[in-house]
Amino acid sequence: MLEIKNLKAGVKGKEILKGINLNVNNGEIHAIMGRNGSGKSTLANVIAGHDSYEVTDGDILYNNKSIIDDTPENRALEGIFMSFQYPVVIPGVNNTYFLKAALNAKRKHQGKSELDAVEFLDLIRKKLKIVGMEEKYMHRAVNDGFSGGEKKRNEILQMITLEPNLAILDETDSGLDIDALKIVAEGVNKYRRDDRAIVIITHYQRILRYIEANHVHVLIDGKIAKSGGEELAEALEEKGYGWLDS
Ligand code: ADP
Ligand code: MG
Repeated sequence: MLEIKNLKAGVKGKEILKGINLNVNNGEIHAIMGRNGSGKSTLANVIAGHDSYEVTDGDILYNNKSIIDDTPENRALEGIFMSFQYPVVIPGVNNTYFLKAALNAKRKHQGKSELDAVEFLDLIRKKLKIVGMEEKYMHRAVNDGFSGGEKKRNEILQMITLEPNLAILDETDSGLDIDALKIVAEGVNKYRRDDRAIVIITHYQRILRYIEANHVHVLIDGKIAKSGGEELAEALEEKGYGWLDS
């Protein structure tokens, strides 16, 4: 589904990603771990198409097609979703309105009928249950005044509502207490399907106790320094990142 080839990218002339190679297949969950500043969020943003980042070399293929020149909007319509490390607050934009507009834009793109207010409410009530959110959050502005944990749940709500094929979750686990972490993990596990892939970016091994990743990669200074299975995440928890420095 996703094929990243020798990707080099940076911001304002500073190279951050220094040749990333990564293949993610349908049905797989990949974890990308690494210290702060190693380039994890940059990688997520570049896949999603954030325009502050400049790709200087390499390619990103999604369903065998290069998306390097695609707009972020188009990537989203085609089924790529990113949950932000720091979810954006959008004052004045109602959460229901936001999510309904996003979902209907996607449905329209897929040639499906748009949901009306009643149909959307019906759908969102089921989704809210999955992430353990009350309906009142739908009447507030997007993330406005939400606690850290509420914002992260709201990101997962967006994911399970928009139903992307490729979901990139950037430190969705950080700042969550153990109960919220379990709910988020459960949301991800329920979302898992043979025709979907999930990339979990995380600093800590903790969430991988609840979500079984097929592959774990360690990013060091803009490069994947090591890949392995769950045992790699456990080794990192025990030994930190130092032993992987070259
Ligand atoms: P991580 O998510 O692994 O903590 P980031 O991708 O956020 O790492 O950052 C990698 C490096 O790139 C850091 O040194 C960071 O300061 C720098 N960086 C990221 N985004 C920007 C930006 N918009 N402007 C300047 N430097 C940036
Ligand atoms: Mg980050």
